[in-house]
Amino acid sequence: MATRTGPTRHIFVTGGVVSSLGKGLTAASLALLLERRGYRVKMQKLDPYLNVDPGTMSPYQHGEVYVTVDGAETDLDLGHYERFGGVTCNRNSNYTSGSIYRSVICREREGGYLGKTVQVIPHITDEIKAAIRSLDADDVDIAITEIGGTAGDIESLPFLEAIRQFRHEIGRQNGLFIHLTLVPYIKAAGELKTKPSQQSVGILRTIGIIPDILICRCEHSMTDEHKEKLALFCDVDRNKVIEEKDVEHSIYEVPLELARQDVDVYIMELLHLHVNPLKLDDWETMVNTLIHPEHGTVEIAVVGKYISLKDAYKSIYESLTHGGIASSVKVEVRMVESEDIEKQGVEALLKGVSGILVPGGFGDRGIEGKIKTVEYARMNKIPFFGICLGMQCATIEFARHVCGMKNANSTEFNSETAFPVIDMMVEQKKVTAKGGTMRLGAFPCKVTEGTKAGFAYGATDIQERHRHRYEFNNKYRDQMAKQGLVFSGICPGRDLVEIVELKDHPWFVACQFHPEFQSTALKAHPLFRDFVAAAVKFRGKSEARKPKKT
Ligand code: GLN
Repeated sequence: MATRTGPTRHIFVTGGVVSSLGKGLTAASLALLLERRGYRVKMQKLDPYLNVDPGTMSPYQHGEVYVTVDGAETDLDLGHYERFGGVTCNRNSNYTSGSIYRSVICREREGGYLGKTVQVIPHITDEIKAAIRSLDADDVDIAITEIGGTAGDIESLPFLEAIRQFRHEIGRQNGLFIHLTLVPYIKAAGELKTKPSQQSVGILRTIGIIPDILICRCEHSMTDEHKEKLALFCDVDRNKVIEEKDVEHSIYEVPLELARQDVDVYIMELLHLHVNPLKLDDWETMVNTLIHPEHGTVEIAVVGKYISLKDAYKSIYESLTHGGIASSVKVEVRMVESEDIEKQGVEALLKGVSGILVPGGFGDRGIEGKIKTVEYARMNKIPFFGICLGMQCATIEFARHVCGMKNANSTEFNSETAFPVIDMMVEQKKVTAKGGTMRLGAFPCKVTEGTKAGFAYGATDIQERHRHRYEFNNKYRDQMAKQGLVFSGICPGRDLVEIVELKDHPWFVACQFHPEFQSTALKAHPLFRDFVAAAVKFRGKSEARKPKKT
């Protein structure tokens, strides 16, 4: 639907009052709505911290590191961007203060500013504007830029100044500001309070930004009076004060809630874009399945090292939800710390689940618990899905317990092991620098027909995203194949093992790549889809085995 005239339009999403309001989710929801109005949308996140990218941060600091097709280690909000719509992210989709400063400082050293004093304004702000401008293209109708952090943070200032200048330069009709704020409920007073939002907008105004649209996160519905008050004191049109109340069931309801309040219509009007009809039927059907699954619930354990932090395995949890939608079942995740398995035993923590997933990770903490977990899934024929480190643990377990390779291990955890079934990739051995140096991004994989992976993909040539330094050691391939380990995915040319699986097991598949980065709400990744389907089958069988209550 080619209805755009004029340049790429820009939307800037800022946040106020507190962090963790779900700016990424809101921005992704807006992208979906605008796409479903026939516009081609690109998205970007600007993060004010000084790390060049989040690749070197602990998941406890930052949550999951999301990997783009072209191998950038990025903020997890980019996962929302890709999961909600057809937005594809790349290296230009995430900049940090660190990466912006690095470019400016490198240019200074190369003599790029000879004679000048290099300053935050204009040099850093110009670099930020160049990053935003990198989204302009004939095939991008609308670019949405999310600014990390909260209005009032010292480190956000250059970003806010840059977007103010940017909008001034492109003209009011081509850019708009959306501010996401919190309208808290004060229990003792029994009231919603608008003051923090007024103050947050006040901070933006001192910088010269007046939001065009205010989106208010709240636990309880706002009254007309609240909206009028906010409109008046924040200088926003009354109809552009939008409520984003906590959703009852799922984040995928957010776009529906926003559409109900016509926020997408206001955006198109403000940006002088034709208001095309909205097509959201498939999304509504998907949300309906999510809320009213036909086949009840299925419990799946995720056994990892960063379980206490919800965001550490964000894409995994979302992909399990997608798998559930495909089977019309609600996936309940039992989150298990692998170290607890070492202390309390596997049976105590995993009994009763219908599927087990071991996700990616680094370092040896909790590794033996993960290996015990794999053994439990293999022996009890519980559907098992291993991802990256999970695949490496599955290989170690098979080597130790099926192939008799005592103390087999990955050289990441024991460099002296007699059976290094997982070893560092040759090209990684010379790498010393951290940050963007792993095997990153999409690589091709040849899938063997007739295997579980082959059945899931329904194709032999696939592409999946990677983030690792270690790999299966091909020295052990024949020996392990003889004992029944199936190598069902291989990276062509490089002969790297990408998928292993078991034949005499209902569903035991483990992959070196990260399929969770390609799953979307409308189209579950084939491996997640089949894993959840296998868990549903397993649940059915174990229920049939249970004695009936009379
Ligand atoms: N630590 C392992 C490696 O570097 C696994 C990485 C991961 O799970 N992302 O190969």
